[in-house]
Amino acid sequence: MVLERLGGSLRAILKKIARASHVDETLVKEVVRDLQRALLQADVNVEMALELSRQVEKRALSEKPPAGMSGREHVIRIVYEELVGILGQTRELKLGRQKILMVGLYGQGKTTTVAKLGKWLQRKGLRVGLLQADTHRPAAYDQLKQLSKQLEAPFHGDTQEKDAVKLAKEGIGVLADQDVIIVDSSGRHSLETDLIEEIKAVSKAVKPEETILILDASTGQQAGPQAKAFHDAVGVTAVILTKLDGTAKGGGALGAVAETKAPIIFVGVGEKIEDLEKFEPPRFVSRLLGMGDLQSLLERAQEALDQEQMEETAKRILSGRFTLREMYEQMEALTKMGPLSKLFSMLPGMSGALSEEQLEDTQRKLRSFRFIMDSMTEEEKENPKIIKSSRVLRIARGSGTDPKSVKELLKYYNASRKAIRGLAGNRKMRRQLLKQFKAGGFDLGDLG
Ligand code: GDP
Ligand code: MG
Repeated sequence: MVLERLGGSLRAILKKIARASHVDETLVKEVVRDLQRALLQADVNVEMALELSRQVEKRALSEKPPAGMSGREHVIRIVYEELVGILGQTRELKLGRQKILMVGLYGQGKTTTVAKLGKWLQRKGLRVGLLQADTHRPAAYDQLKQLSKQLEAPFHGDTQEKDAVKLAKEGIGVLADQDVIIVDSSGRHSLETDLIEEIKAVSKAVKPEETILILDASTGQQAGPQAKAFHDAVGVTAVILTKLDGTAKGGGALGAVAETKAPIIFVGVGEKIEDLEKFEPPRFVSRLLGMGDLQSLLERAQEALDQEQMEETAKRILSGRFTLREMYEQMEALTKMGPLSKLFSMLPGMSGALSEEQLEDTQRKLRSFRFIMDSMTEEEKENPKIIKSSRVLRIARGSGTDPKSVKELLKYYNASRKAIRGLAGNRKMRRQLLKQFKAGGFDLGDLG
């Protein structure tokens, strides 16, 4: 299904970013291309897809990540923020006298949402009347009448009346002393001309202040055309997305919002009358991306990365490679007490588990090393031997530390490298290490 695919391809893009060794123009361009493709495949309109990817590219290439955030996390955050931006035009429903017309196809949740919105407005202290102008489905009358009883709200409808316009006019008169009148209308299975003609006539009779399109969250490609047809006919002023409690992620809403420029104002999250929530773009986008919220999004990206990185780093180190980058990754793993701490614990003076104090000390050192290494070039991290005094000065300045700290890091690196070299060269040690990794659930392949 299209919506699931949009969520899926967006998640794949985030993964790609999380996996990248660092952020550069090539990566950003690739991400932007993927993003465009994903949006277009999900029938998000072209202009919107282009605008969004342009924005992502511009920001990813020009903005510096905030302190404590890696370049990768920063790009993920930009993608997330720009998606939120598209959907972020939500607004409050006016709390005052008004007529609200609900439109949408069959089964989208119109009648249910009439009652839900009625309840919500009642809670705000408004008197609400419900008007059943669906003359096509006899059952709609009973359905809304039942709901109006639950709400203790005045109700008007007539199973004998076949003329929706007449019924609507009549209802407006009967319910005139209510603050808000919510009008339910007929749907159809598809966008038939008679539906469009009828809804136009009803709209003319009601003269609603709000015309709300009700859209099932599982509507995919059709969301855009549906929204456009209703918008062209009666001018949609807001969208309510229903059934978000199900498995659908609601990507079609992107299309509806693009077509109508009308904001999503509420979401339906269940069958009960209370199951209506104000629309919150960040939550919605997180859901679309399959993540709980931004924090967990970033954490997940990081975790996936950690797991892969640890395995990679272990392989590299055991095959004798140990640059500043490996040291950094290894230290980071250590502070998280990942499996690599086993490797570390075999270094001289590090036997056994780390004490609380040692761990804290390592973490403090790691923070300072992180700043310092962030000021190094890729070349310097790969080949620390080239870091002589003028580079030390530059790195110290760039990282806001002092040459002494930079030298300390280099000294620490050299000592670690020697120890690691000895370790990796010792066949017996290596076998033992590999056994430990395997016990920890790591399969290091044919390294042994
Ligand atoms: P209408 O044909 O557009 O008037 O749609 P209805 O209001 O009759 O709703 C169709 C079905 O969807 C009913 O079974 C509702 O209970 C169900 N429904 C509506 N909104 C929601 C929602 O937010 N969540 C869930 N789970 N079901 C909903
Ligand atoms: Mg209905």
